[in-house]
Amino acid sequence: MIADNVAALLRELPPGVTLEAAVKTRTTEEIAEAFGAGVKVIGENYVQEADDHARGIGGTGAKAEWHLIGHLQSNKAKRAAELFQMVETIDSVNNGKGLDRACARLNKVMPVLIEVNSGREPQKDGAMPEAVEALVKDLSALKNVKVIGLMTMGPELHNPEELRPYFRETKAVFDRIAALKLPNVEMKILSMGMTDSYKIAIEEGATLVRIGSKIFGARRI
Ligand SMILES: *Cc1c(COP(=O)(O)O)cnc(C)c1O
Repeated sequence: MIADNVAALLRELPPGVTLEAAVKTRTTEEIAEAFGAGVKVIGENYVQEADDHARGIGGTGAKAEWHLIGHLQSNKAKRAAELFQMVETIDSVNNGKGLDRACARLNKVMPVLIEVNSGREPQKDGAMPEAVEALVKDLSALKNVKVIGLMTMGPELHNPEELRPYFRETKAVFDRIAALKLPNVEMKILSMGMTDSYKIAIEEGATLVRIGSKIFGARRI
């Protein structure tokens, strides 16, 4: 079932678009099945869950690429630096500096995406679209994190078509920053789109889609 869903998605996604399994609430066995069916990127909302899952499917080794797609709490930076190959949710200088310090101790450079609050929703994480450029410039001075793109969720809307303008604006910010050719910045990943919205996100330029329910079934909580 999970394996069939993964196979169908992998057939469907155009070249240049990577499938990331969003695994919150899923068991290690379910994640292992998706991984076995060809998912190469695993997105975790919580550092602790990644820790548990990674042990269960043989470690955060060379094969699976583990991404943090939930907010990075400052007291979890050290473990996040150890576990993940990418953090998609940097949204402030402090957030980036905490991760940079933790990565420096490990002698590691962490690729990061800036989370964009494309809906400009005050209660949500993410940098406002107009603040992203300055944030990327600040982060470009850090030695142990490297900005390689943007991520956005967009507001929760009933009709996914209504997300299109939010994806489009995020892509415009992405292109504008890419054109600046900042040192230590390489704009190559645009993470947007989930089960209901990935097709629209791809039309608007997504290169990484984060999919949960369409792989694993409806969420239990
Ligand atoms: C849960 C989640 C997803 C996937 O959601 P689905 O609608 O189940 O595909 C993608 N991104 C993030 C950050 C999530 O938390």
